[in-house]
Amino acid sequence: MRIVVDAGDITRAQVDAIVNAANTGMLGGGGVDGAIHRAAGPDLLEACRQVKRVNGMRCPTGEARITPGFRLPAKHVIHTVGPIYTSVPNPAELLASAYRSSLELAVANDLKSLAFPAISCGVYGYPVHEAVEVVRGVLTERRWPLDEVRFVLYTRDVYEAFRRGLQDLIGP
Ligand code: ADP
Repeated sequence: MRIVVDAGDITRAQVDAIVNAANTGMLGGGGVDGAIHRAAGPDLLEACRQVKRVNGMRCPTGEARITPGFRLPAKHVIHTVGPIYTSVPNPAELLASAYRSSLELAVANDLKSLAFPAISCGVYGYPVHEAVEVVRGVLTERRWPLDEVRFVLYTRDVYEAFRRGLQDLIGP
């Protein structure tokens, strides 16, 4: 599996699925979530509404759900919810679970390429250097039967932290 770290806007990524840093209600929000909904068009919100709620949540923290990508270049959107860093006792476990659930859902749907943003590293306040260590752990905990996992990072500091932190895993 090739690991790629790119700077830019994830809504433009040409992959089988882009991952959305959503919230538990899955009805849109700011940051990357807002950008993905704007680029995908209103059908994405309707598809999210159709996702069954459990205990009032469409996607509990650490889990993932899949919808079509509609107007995006990506065929699918995998919505996951990372932790609010200061609101839980175990942010690393929940962040790992968000990445792992997204990878597992991609594999279960026979997808081959996936692009992630820096889940929880915006409004949810996860320190980026700690987040990168969590990402490294999930990428290396097993063999993932995918062709490519890409990280598309929007801000320079986050991009540089991912590049440095994943340096030895990044493919040619
Ligand atoms: P969270 O609530 O999980 O922290 P945010 O959307 O606030 O989610 O931030 C997650 C990361 O996504 C941040 O690093 C932010 O800079 C980044 N981001 C915002 N817009 C985009 C985009 N269009 N493409 C990729 N990453 C983005």
